[in-house]
Amino acid sequence: MAMKDEQQPPLHILFFPFLAHGHLIPIADMAALFAARGVRCTILTTPVNAAIISSVIDRANDASRQGTGFPESEPFDRFLAVHSHFDAVVSDSFFSWSVDAAAEHGIPRLGFLGTSMFARSCSDSMLRNNPLETAPDEPDALVALPGLPHRVELRRSQMMDPKKLPDHWEFFQSRSFGELFNSFHELEPEYVEHYHTTLGRRTWLVGPVGLASKDMAARGTNTLSPDADSCLRWLDTKDANSVVYVSFGTLTSFSTGELRELARGLHLSGKNFVWVLRGAGAESSEWMPEDFAELMERGERGFIVRGWAPQMLILNHAALGGFVTHCGWNSTLEAVSAGVPMVTWPRYADQFNNEMLIVEVLKVGVSIGAKDYASSVETHEVIGGEVIAESISRLMGNTEEGDAIQKKAKDLGVKARSAVENGGSSYNDVGRLMEELMARRSSAKVEKVRTTDGL
Ligand code: UDP
Repeated sequence: MAMKDEQQPPLHILFFPFLAHGHLIPIADMAALFAARGVRCTILTTPVNAAIISSVIDRANDASRQGTGFPESEPFDRFLAVHSHFDAVVSDSFFSWSVDAAAEHGIPRLGFLGTSMFARSCSDSMLRNNPLETAPDEPDALVALPGLPHRVELRRSQMMDPKKLPDHWEFFQSRSFGELFNSFHELEPEYVEHYHTTLGRRTWLVGPVGLASKDMAARGTNTLSPDADSCLRWLDTKDANSVVYVSFGTLTSFSTGELRELARGLHLSGKNFVWVLRGAGAESSEWMPEDFAELMERGERGFIVRGWAPQMLILNHAALGGFVTHCGWNSTLEAVSAGVPMVTWPRYADQFNNEMLIVEVLKVGVSIGAKDYASSVETHEVIGGEVIAESISRLMGNTEEGDAIQKKAKDLGVKARSAVENGGSSYNDVGRLMEELMARRSSAKVEKVRTTDGL
């Protein structure tokens, strides 16, 4: 007879994130999300990364009173040997070797790459069909990705050479128990279907996981920019939908020429803006045009955040009307959740695919027209200030096109928030996974009894 769930100790899931903000943040959010559903969650990471996500974890602990610990660092395999009681391991797809370690200790492994199903389907099409092989050897040649629900075409210059795609991900994924996605059914239903039918993989869509975060300000950092509070107060003084937010995630860098044109573009657009400057770009004396510096001194039109911005709070502020983004999947989904339309400026990795999803499929954005799959900032085509200003105007300039995009973005935001609410599609996927893991635990027990009894 099956034991009732309440008689069982709660599920215990181990999360093992890759060491980059874009991977660590959604994994910490996901652990908070599962903890809120009564799952014990442990995140295995280094002390430096533990400090970055500690606020999310503290809040999750306050909310659910479930333990979420940071074990001392030790080899993954040895860690599992000592702690083999986990019901599942959610490990980053970059850690393909974690599949073997989990299998050895009989723990189901769930892969997590942190991108869209659309982008995963695109890279799968690339791997299967290698369309670059037959495409003309011209940077502007359009290359179609076959076998996808939509006609997807990219310029050769926007694509990574498939020989450089780590195909072992695919191999190892198929040996996993399944894959978790920071996405939701209503966002990309054709690709959920495609992923199941073409790849025959088990998936759970549990996002947008950012909505599970209980501390929007300190999410992803232990050193928030000193400009954060004044930025939010500055936004309070602005009209609804009047401000464009400009930020390119944690890894993207721009040449001084690009930064100069971006400053010109923001000036020319006539719109209010918040611009996050991180890393080398934060030293602005080298590239900032004089009239732009004067504009900033007056302080009415624009606000520059140096360092880590409270992105979720900014995107969800009523004054926000648009987001110039590099299309990192976390940023994309955060904009979608907040109902904010995007000007898309992809650079590398899955970003050109995400741009296509945003602009062509979902129609919640305008492309700035980036063409280079980045290898080095020096070789990038510099996009002119006029083009940047025009793209922002197309999105926020009260035109028919802009109004339609804004409406679609708002509607999608409502769907995103419903997905994680009680009874929503992502809420149900979390429940579905928990039930499966619980059932697996019960049948593993029966199996053990059988073996002990010599049956
Ligand atoms: N982020 C933030 N403040 C910053 C820069 C980044 O909160 O100043 C967060 C952002 O909200 C997102 C993540 O960092 O959750 C960046 O992930 P994304 O996938 O967008 O880009 P990546 O950095 O991986 O290229």
